[in-house]
Amino acid sequence: MKYYSTRDKNNIVSSKEAIIKGISEEGGLFVPESFPSFPSIEELINCNYKELAYKVLSLYLTDYTEEELLSAVDGAYDEKFRSENIVEIKSTENAHFLELFHGPTLAFKDMALTILPYLLKAAIKDKNIDKEIVILTATSGDTGKAALEGFKDVEGINVIVFYPHEGVSHIQRLQMVTQRGSNTFVSAIRGNFDDAQSGVKEIFADEDFNELLEKQGYILSSANSINIGRLIPQIIYYVYGYIELLRKQAISKGEKINIVVPTGNFGNILAAYYAKRMGLPVNRLICASNNNKVLSDFFNTGIYNKERDLLLTSSPSMDILVSSNLERFLYHLSDDENLIREKMTDLKEKGKYHWDSFREDIYANYTNEEETAYWIKEVYERENYIIDPHTAVAYGVYMKYLEAEKDSSKTLIASTASPFKFHKKVLTSIGQTPTKDDFIDLKKISRLSNEGLPKQLGELETLPELHKTVCGKDEMRNIILRFLKVNKDD
Ligand SMILES: *Cc1c(COP(=O)(O)O)cnc(C)c1O
Repeated sequence: MKYYSTRDKNNIVSSKEAIIKGISEEGGLFVPESFPSFPSIEELINCNYKELAYKVLSLYLTDYTEEELLSAVDGAYDEKFRSENIVEIKSTENAHFLELFHGPTLAFKDMALTILPYLLKAAIKDKNIDKEIVILTATSGDTGKAALEGFKDVEGINVIVFYPHEGVSHIQRLQMVTQRGSNTFVSAIRGNFDDAQSGVKEIFADEDFNELLEKQGYILSSANSINIGRLIPQIIYYVYGYIELLRKQAISKGEKINIVVPTGNFGNILAAYYAKRMGLPVNRLICASNNNKVLSDFFNTGIYNKERDLLLTSSPSMDILVSSNLERFLYHLSDDENLIREKMTDLKEKGKYHWDSFREDIYANYTNEEETAYWIKEVYERENYIIDPHTAVAYGVYMKYLEAEKDSSKTLIASTASPFKFHKKVLTSIGQTPTKDDFIDLKKISRLSNEGLPKQLGELETLPELHKTVCGKDEMRNIILRFLKVNKDD
């Protein structure tokens, strides 16, 4: 399987090269040259998560050896997941929730960020790159922690995370500053998420700085969601979800299901689309947005317009105006690199673009803040099941879909975060008053939901704070050099 850039079909790489590079030189994203077909149901029906993972990965990452893939799968999907099955399904009256939040940071990004380090490490080794990789990330809370957990103690790789001093929740901050692992470094930066993110982007684009690092044996890399090494592992759980529904006899063989995904950067739903293109029996893909409804507007009007204010919502991981992975989807629809280049130039220069025709049938809608709270309460009262605000956005959109389309297909809803992570919103939604003490609130959710408090959160109350640095945007380079023990004057 070869990969090429959405903006230049002549830029062809192997999967290992695509994983090392992340993004292609001219700014395009790597896509597979074709969609391999889905193995027969007979071949999959008795597989556990790891076995399915191996089967899916081996179709896409064809320049990895069997041993490399097996050891990546083994290293990633182990006891750091709370659930032995890795992913659980909670079936309710209306839908089946695909719980993707049982990993180390209690959100779905763990599904890919636990395996990416192994894939990256194998790729670097194979290509004889004798440099250490420095994963550099700005985070609004979740990705940073998932990267730290995924890459901690992985030899040959360092992880540096910058988070906005005022922009993350108390729990999110604790999760990061208590991070263990001798190859990890976390610093707050004075300012908001945009300051942290633009600071990191400038560092990636700073040729002198990159050259200095390279001379000292380091190369910068980002673990962001446009890396194909994050996208491909996300296909696995949709296949697993389908097989589980079959095993539970919730569906029959070949029966088509809907998949609903709370969407930000369009990575998670794109993986569902890949599963569909591989032949997984999928009826509708349902794209759910929060008040930042750029995608919902796009699918309903054909106009992608990022020229609007970013709204802060209770589903912060979806507060995004530029959904990078949409570029891949549009590429697959059109198969036209020139068209993609044109549209992405429009986006950059005019802040918007127009897309004329959709061949792929995606239903898109959004859920506002009031509706999100309503659905958390409604599901709790009816099912005694607590969903987080991101999942509630998906559920709310699914309810709108049912009303509009009267479709009786069975439906899988990607449940992307544990309700424990968003305890304040969850408690107020179900009519409880949060206290000033996060840990009291967490225990309350545990009682109300009959779910044990995840130990990753419980232990934060007592873990020592190891990362105390707070810096200005202009100090980021020096902080990186100090952590890597690079002397500027060498
Ligand atoms: C990142 C994230 C999303 C959005 O996923 P995309 O792949 O960016 O569309 C949704 N929910 C949660 C909890 C997330 O962390």
